[in-house]
Amino acid sequence: MRTDVVVVGLGAFGSAALWRLAARGVNVVGIERQAIGHPLGSSHGTTRLFRVACMEHPGLTAIARKSLELWTELGERTGETYVRQTGSLNVGAPDSRPVSGALRAATEAGAPTTDLSHHELKARYPQYGGLAAGDVAVLDPGAGICFAEPIVRAHVTEARRLGAEVYEHTMVTEIEQRADEVIVRTPTAEFHADQVIVCAGAWLGSLYPELPLTPRRTPMFWFAPKDPDSEAFRLANFPSFIWELADGRGLWGHGSDDGFGVKVGLEGDTSHVTGFAADDLDRSIRPIEDIAELAAAVAHAFPGLDPAPVQVIPCMVTDSPDGQFLAGRYGDRVVVAGGDSGHGFKHCGGLGELLAQIAMKETPYTDASFIDPHRFGPSVP
Ligand SMILES: Cc1cc2nc3c(=O)[nH]c(=O)nc-3n(C[C@H](O)[C@H](O)[C@H](O)COP(=O)(O)OP(=O)(O)OC[C@H]3O[C@@H](n4cnc5c(N)ncnc54)[C@H](O)[C@@H]3O)c2cc1C
Repeated sequence: MRTDVVVVGLGAFGSAALWRLAARGVNVVGIERQAIGHPLGSSHGTTRLFRVACMEHPGLTAIARKSLELWTELGERTGETYVRQTGSLNVGAPDSRPVSGALRAATEAGAPTTDLSHHELKARYPQYGGLAAGDVAVLDPGAGICFAEPIVRAHVTEARRLGAEVYEHTMVTEIEQRADEVIVRTPTAEFHADQVIVCAGAWLGSLYPELPLTPRRTPMFWFAPKDPDSEAFRLANFPSFIWELADGRGLWGHGSDDGFGVKVGLEGDTSHVTGFAADDLDRSIRPIEDIAELAAAVAHAFPGLDPAPVQVIPCMVTDSPDGQFLAGRYGDRVVVAGGDSGHGFKHCGGLGELLAQIAMKETPYTDASFIDPHRFGPSVP
């Protein structure tokens, strides 16, 4: 089959690229190894945190804003809500990464924020039982949560409506870049295209082993309030947060609402496993290694939550050496996007637009040099 662009992998990044290409009227084919919205990669589960004053890099603010703009437009068409802007708290010591990083984004990217003193934080959010004496917060008012699986499905549905062809349960086994075309091979068909955008998530390293990508096992956990009638952990009262604890570990999550529960995760703990191929992810849940440390952190941080999780689902992120994505041109006919490093979902709409612009050789809407896939070395296939 001949087409203009093939998108390989239709999780968060690839589904968005497919949609943005179809929205331009480009002839585009999407190929996904599993079913759309499957739970075996990195984009399943109902929600992800959405932040604008991004602590990871000020350049991410423009990409998050583009996601919001595109998802708002899409929601107006479909009648769905893809982002709930309840605000988000960046909590920790004044020099902690969430607090200083959000302020840096506020200064350098113009993301408005509000400072909360220790006293204001405690008074407004009494759920935070385990604050250290010096903890303060930066409120990111444009932040909140976004709806992960519904967004991936909506990207693909919209792309199909606009003319994209989608092949599910089809695995790309080889990508051959030639001078005049790129050939994408599956066990049953060959696709000849001008450009390919490869968004294979934790499997990107099996197609491009020279990329410095490390899949990391990261289960998702949900908790319930001890008092089932309590309103304290409803989303409106307990918005999304990232909290650097006094010992350097990071706690993150958001409150519950109809259709989803209180989500809390822990970064920097001892349960995270790396050094496996994505197909070999251990999908069992280990009661001690996975749960004990997080449950203790939850008990200390939020005494109103029952520290025994009510739901656990395996997931994985793909780390890069500097904690930023690898997204951009990777050959005359190849564009890649991966290495989400655990904070990619909120950016996928905006990243999809950027990937479409790069593939179509348009001027990108923002400077993407900080996520250039070549920044760790010049290895172009
Ligand atoms: C526990 C957890 C919490 C997170 N929290 C947040 C958060 O709060 N906020 C946030 O912004 N981000 C968060 N993230 C990160 C976010 O979910 C990821 O950045 C995002 O889902 C990555 O999407 P992706 O498209 O790179 O990968 P995926 O969604 O996994 O997509 C890759 C796709 O490629 C397909 N594929 C692979 N190989 C092939 C092949 N050879 N042929 C065809 N198809 C192929 C796979 O089947 C898969 O569908 C979190 C992640 C986890 C795990």
